[in-house]
Amino acid sequence: MAGKKEEEHCSFCGRPKSETIILVSGLEAQICNHCIEQAKLILDEETAGQFLAPDYQNSILKPAEIKKFLDRYVIGQDEAKKVLAVAVYNHYKRISQKQDDNEVEIEKSNIVLVGETGTGKTLLARTIARMLHVPFAIADATVLTEAGYVGEDVESILTRLLQAADYNVAAAEKGIIFIDELDKIARKSDNPSITRDVSGEGVQQALLKLLEGSEVNVPPQGGRKHPEQKMIAVNTKNILFIAGGAFQGIERHIAARLRTNVVGYSFAGLNDDRVDKDNLLQYIAPADLKKFGLIPEIVGRLPVLTYLHPLSRDALRRILIEPKNALTKQFIKLFEMDGIELDFTDEALDFIVDKSTEFKLGARGLRSIIEAIMIDAMFELPSKKKAKKLTVTLDYAAGKFEKANISKLKAAV
Ligand code: ADP
Repeated sequence: MAGKKEEEHCSFCGRPKSETIILVSGLEAQICNHCIEQAKLILDEETAGQFLAPDYQNSILKPAEIKKFLDRYVIGQDEAKKVLAVAVYNHYKRISQKQDDNEVEIEKSNIVLVGETGTGKTLLARTIARMLHVPFAIADATVLTEAGYVGEDVESILTRLLQAADYNVAAAEKGIIFIDELDKIARKSDNPSITRDVSGEGVQQALLKLLEGSEVNVPPQGGRKHPEQKMIAVNTKNILFIAGGAFQGIERHIAARLRTNVVGYSFAGLNDDRVDKDNLLQYIAPADLKKFGLIPEIVGRLPVLTYLHPLSRDALRRILIEPKNALTKQFIKLFEMDGIELDFTDEALDFIVDKSTEFKLGARGLRSIIEAIMIDAMFELPSKKKAKKLTVTLDYAAGKFEKANISKLKAAV
């Protein structure tokens, strides 16, 4: 007698087939689309930081999934995340494109992130690299100089990437380089210089060679101290460059451009009332970077441009508790390893955010403030036999903070 057949369901979450898009059957179990997605995120997290085989890289997440991954580590900055997710997705589509002369050639989507310091530019770039399992290096544009001058040659950037890749050239050639403080190598005036501009335009020209994609001979140890070292050839064609900078004062150029356009022939339908004057950065365009002092060739090689918001009080508070490796979670873990239960009251968290805002320390200040508050407990509690719990209250936090040296905190940021 054939009884009513029970509806199939996911062996992991129990969802009936009717509530899924697809139910994949294995030997003795089924898995639904929700659980597959979940498992993929777990896999990405667990393997983050490892360089994986190229065929794995081809199974790259879709832009919405990339954003979801970023959401776990970076608070807010939705526009930047979206733009970054699309750029990275396209970049990897480009890399996986078959070499065929008749194919449309997809151009590289190097990215510029504009925003105040401490708003998450480096964090975004680093998180993308973790997700993609590719080597990642940070280069500070301020220390770069034209070849032959005191300072670092631009090739040193590639040395760092090679080191991050354990000298695996193939891995390095698919890596990500974050160039910090790009704004600091802008030329000082809008006119091409007539005198030598060692740290500005000259460096931009040198950098251009890397951004364009070329074969560069890289000193494996970096610097010029080891003239005997054998150079390693690195092709930068598939390296993704993400540049960041505060571009202080760029609002002036944005405002000027918007005004001219508004008077002239309406900029994307914006008229003066609709321009949000308190947040001009959202209208940033390549032309503003040129006005700021980047040479047109560099701007052209960094075609994806987006911005980050200054962090609000609410964002700072969320940064303290929400990200996967949020500061409070890190301290809770540290104490847990000594068998001590640590927690923070809401008022204590507000206090930390208030102090960071008051002293203009931003997100970077949160860490120094918590460190200052926790140092006594971290020193004393591990050797106290009875200590099993510490609640950081407003009074506790304020008391410890008072003892801290503010100028030292500022210097640490
Ligand atoms: P930037 O590169 O913009 O100067 P960073 O990315 O280096 O800033 O940020 C400094 C630190 O502040 C990070 O390591 C992180 O702990 C914290 N932080 C900054 N912005 C965010 C954010 N949006 N979400 C989570 N943490 C953030």
